[in-house]
Amino acid sequence: MIVNNPKGPSRVRVKLSRIQFPEACPVCLSEVEDLVFVTVVDKEADAYASSSWTKQDEVNIQLQTAKSATTFAIPTCMRHGSKSVRSLRMKLIAALGFFLLFYPILFYLFRINVALTYSRPLAEPLIALAVLVVILVLILMYGLYPRALERAIRFHDVSRVKDYVILSVSNREYLNRFLKLNEMVVQENSTDSSVESDQIED
Ligand SMILES: [Zn+2]
Repeated sequence: MIVNNPKGPSRVRVKLSRIQFPEACPVCLSEVEDLVFVTVVDKEADAYASSSWTKQDEVNIQLQTAKSATTFAIPTCMRHGSKSVRSLRMKLIAALGFFLLFYPILFYLFRINVALTYSRPLAEPLIALAVLVVILVLILMYGLYPRALERAIRFHDVSRVKDYVILSVSNREYLNRFLKLNEMVVQENSTDSSVESDQIED
């Protein structure tokens, strides 16, 4: 049974123990060449469901598993693969970059102010400020903007105890393949309750 949600990505509820991802890239549907590991923390263990996108990092995965998290392996193409997603480290680098650049930017704003007040050369502090601002914007985009793959599949909730995972998929064709692989009920965004189908075996 498929309940299509015409607006935006469809929310899907899948049995955690039986989840399978199609052999296609979730973003562009092209050939599978890479594998991206997504770790989602159980909502019952953590107050908030959170996900982190990692490369194959055994230590990290084991740490996450200890905190009752579940790791999914999603096949992707090379372009949208593990090199394109943001890891926790990248987000930390972005935050660090912001704090490192904050004071130099203030410093050059101050220099510009001084140059304007006392008619000193303006070019040097202006160029320095422009460079710093560009670097800051790039760092923030690098760290904070969700990559194509992260926008294509979003994990909302995972429960190992109740054996389900709720995720949303934005690519319609990928969703259809996903539904074929995992017999399930697609939840509409407005409804919370759903009946899971058990017709896995053909
Ligand atoms: Zn792709």
